[in-house]
Amino acid sequence: MTKIKLHNTLTRRKEDFAPIEPDNVRMYVCGPTVYDRAHLGNARPVVVFDVLYRLLRHVYGPDHVTYVRNFTDVDDKINARALENVGEGGDVNAEIARLTGMTTQWFLDDMQALGALDPSQMPRATQYIPQMIAMIEKLIAEGYAYAKDGHALFRVRKYAEYGKLSGRSVDDMIAGARVEVAPYKEDPMDFVLWKPSSDDLPGWDSPWGRGRPGWHIECSAMSYELLGAEFDIHGGGNDLMFPHHENEMAQSCCAHPEGGFAKFWLHNEMLQVEGKKMSKSLGNFFTVHDLLEGHDGQPGVPGEVIRFVFLSTHYRKPMDWTAEKAREAEATLRKWRGLVAGIEPAPSPAPEVTHALADDLNTAGAIAALHKLAAEGDAAGLKASAALVGLLGDDLGDWANASGYDDDLVDLVAQLLAARAEARKNKEWSKADLIRDGFKEAGIKVKDSPEGTTWSIERDEIDSLPFFHSVRHAFQAGDQRKLEEALEVARQAGIVFSDRQSLDVAPAWRSEPEPEYVKSKLVSLIHELNEIR
Ligand SMILES: [Zn+2]
Repeated sequence: MTKIKLHNTLTRRKEDFAPIEPDNVRMYVCGPTVYDRAHLGNARPVVVFDVLYRLLRHVYGPDHVTYVRNFTDVDDKINARALENVGEGGDVNAEIARLTGMTTQWFLDDMQALGALDPSQMPRATQYIPQMIAMIEKLIAEGYAYAKDGHALFRVRKYAEYGKLSGRSVDDMIAGARVEVAPYKEDPMDFVLWKPSSDDLPGWDSPWGRGRPGWHIECSAMSYELLGAEFDIHGGGNDLMFPHHENEMAQSCCAHPEGGFAKFWLHNEMLQVEGKKMSKSLGNFFTVHDLLEGHDGQPGVPGEVIRFVFLSTHYRKPMDWTAEKAREAEATLRKWRGLVAGIEPAPSPAPEVTHALADDLNTAGAIAALHKLAAEGDAAGLKASAALVGLLGDDLGDWANASGYDDDLVDLVAQLLAARAEARKNKEWSKADLIRDGFKEAGIKVKDSPEGTTWSIERDEIDSLPFFHSVRHAFQAGDQRKLEEALEVARQAGIVFSDRQSLDVAPAWRSEPEPEYVKSKLVSLIHELNEIR
């Protein structure tokens, strides 16, 4: 059996993973608060833990893994948004029901588009209010919590291990954090388990009056109900480590000392966009839906491409989303999809891929192994191995079906292929050669086979040397305007000079040429042919 190693936040070490019960491996991951579209950063933990879920299913069997991810559908942010939507005097409760229902479905649709499997259970906080109340009562009865002025609060100093997960002491936390000093708190660090609700906001009857739960208690109550007092893995983004996960652990370990809560804690790093923290003020903030559908004049990015880009960075490193990575991922996936089309997958994934994933989810290593399989032409192995990370499946393949190129481009190529067929029929070899060379210059690779002719845009078709020459010429001449022009033409052809300090030696990297560039080349080719006629 494959040995899985995982980095455990609790011990800050990579440890051998051995499930408590191999026939029921249990994982809990904190899900979204449902009041708006998921942004790209919200999608990272979903994809990370989806890969872990797939790996666990592969190793222990699909029927032996229970994966729980919750929806937080009671929260101050939800209340605030609903109030904003209906205005003063509106029916806030009805709006909350509409808002949470709609955004829950949005989340599920977006994550499905990224190829994430549905967890085994997706509990909603509002379905577990009695269980939360029971847990709070138990904590109060045993002295770990207290009630005051309609609130119930957790007594942080009663739990000696508090701070163990995030690695800080309570006194440091008080010094470093803006802790709310409220009259109903015995100690500024104590956190809310239950708080009163006004009549116009959602509330439930409780021993402490009508109110609603604090955020942290829901995960403790739901994981206990669905996974038990002790389970294998708890996951989430590292922004949740403190206070959310620290508080979950305190509540659960005090209410159910017979367990021990999660044995392994896994945290993914955050996501940036083009090297910067995503923020609305920087204009680099976008939702998963924006990215999928296209936004601000940018075309949509297929979910499979987003997934591929995510997987190219290890989950414990910051993920930098860039448009360039997306372009490269799309080209790779197009190539791989061409390779595996109509091929039956091998019976099992390649060991290199499984081993990379088993080594603390080394998805970047798994992608490298997939590249190797593709280079070796092992289509069956590639298909089976890619499935383990949720790529190249039929569910995500629509974007790559047909040619995937825009209609104008498809028409131009069809026109030229027809001209080529006619030239060949008429033995006009110079014309046929002109079309062949013109395709190459435009970056179009044509494949003729007994089944017919296929084509694709391939960066390697274009000879990059003339671009190097024109850039170097302008650089050496010191002509800034010409240099900018030459760089721009090269960029459109997919050739980018990465180091502008040494353009005369021209270090460069390549990506696919832009469709507009390809089209303009094809249009000139058609003109040229018409001149011959
Ligand atoms: Zn949680």
